Amino acid sequence: MPATKQLNAVMPTYARFPITLVKGKGSYVWDDKGNKYLDFTSGIATCNLGHVPDAVKTAVDKQLQELWHCSNLYEIPSQQKLAAKLVEHSFGDQVFFCNSGAEANEGAIKLARRYAQKMKKNDRFEVVTFKQSFHGRTLATLTATGQEKIQDGFNPLPSGFRYLPYNDLQALDELVKKDTCAVLLELVQGEGGVIAADKEWLEKLSQLCKENDILLMIDEVQTGIGRTGTLFAYEQFGITPDVMTLAKGLGSGLPIGALIAKSHVAAAFEAGTHGSTFGGNPIVTSAGLATLDYIFSKDVLTSASELAHYLTSKLQNLQAKYPQVIQGVRGLGLLQGLVINGEAKGIIAKAREMQVLILPAGPNVVRILPPLTATVEEVDMLIQVLGEILSEGVDL
Ligand SMILES: *Cc1c(COP(=O)(O)O)cnc(C)c1O
Repeated sequence: MPATKQLNAVMPTYARFPITLVKGKGSYVWDDKGNKYLDFTSGIATCNLGHVPDAVKTAVDKQLQELWHCSNLYEIPSQQKLAAKLVEHSFGDQVFFCNSGAEANEGAIKLARRYAQKMKKNDRFEVVTFKQSFHGRTLATLTATGQEKIQDGFNPLPSGFRYLPYNDLQALDELVKKDTCAVLLELVQGEGGVIAADKEWLEKLSQLCKENDILLMIDEVQTGIGRTGTLFAYEQFGITPDVMTLAKGLGSGLPIGALIAKSHVAAAFEAGTHGSTFGGNPIVTSAGLATLDYIFSKDVLTSASELAHYLTSKLQNLQAKYPQVIQGVRGLGLLQGLVINGEAKGIIAKAREMQVLILPAGPNVVRILPPLTATVEEVDMLIQVLGEILSEGVDL
């Protein structure tokens, strides 16, 4: 077999950065050449407690000795416990577990349709989503995603989706149509450029949903599990959703997704209507439980909020110093974006050469996602590296 055949055995779906990471601990990762990097990507808002957090590792190690998988034909104690913890700390009453963010959103879309058709008996099916949103890569969730580049080449797309501009009060006049059963949105658009929802707009949206019997479904796949300073971002917006989806940070890096709903909505998913082989298996739910236990026992939300405050003020200082490069700083908590006057990728590449990992969010935003457990000294390292890059000048 030619060597190139083996080298290219993975499909080319990702434009990968040119380093190979082989080890991680806390806020740091190491490449295959032994170089150490400060990781302010957190595996895209997934390793919220840093890499290989001891508390989660201990719980997973223990579960690995006992039972890996038994299918959802049987009761799974860690799944019950994690669900109880999630509803204790949210608006929700019941949880469905799956394996990813896309699957959680796919489940939310199914739940919304089934709730309308079986519980409300009104045969509504349409889900309204927003421009430049991101909800996943399955056929239904890429259709929910308000970005043409993600839908390109996948026709015919499933029907039953409609898009409105985000944060546009006037456009809410178009929200309610006769077939509309739900709205699905991010409270900070992550992939779309780190854009937080406007509070007044969101309140109006929420009110329209209530008045018209439309489910308010929020995608907290990226914003959930402390990323924005509260366990869930919705807590900061003065709204109560009907449905919420989670994934990224929930398992500290093990693959788990969750769909959370009020009980009258969850009731639409009676036995046999939805399912997943791996969803909520003993290993990943142990990881989820240990993640939440750690967050509460160590008061991680308080320290993460303080760190977010510090990070934001430092980023704002950088913007004040280099306004010709940095147009603005935006985001919520430890989900921060630098809006660049030009392309973000030059800054990201230079930072990587200086052993600091950060991400893009769209072409012109640098996205910064420290672990919630990062330190002030680590934020200072990022700021120093960004400062050096900006003072030397970079191609935009
Ligand atoms: C990452 C992400 C998804 C998709 O999650 P996967 O686990 O990759 O399927 C969905 N919604 C939002 C807001 C995300 O950030």
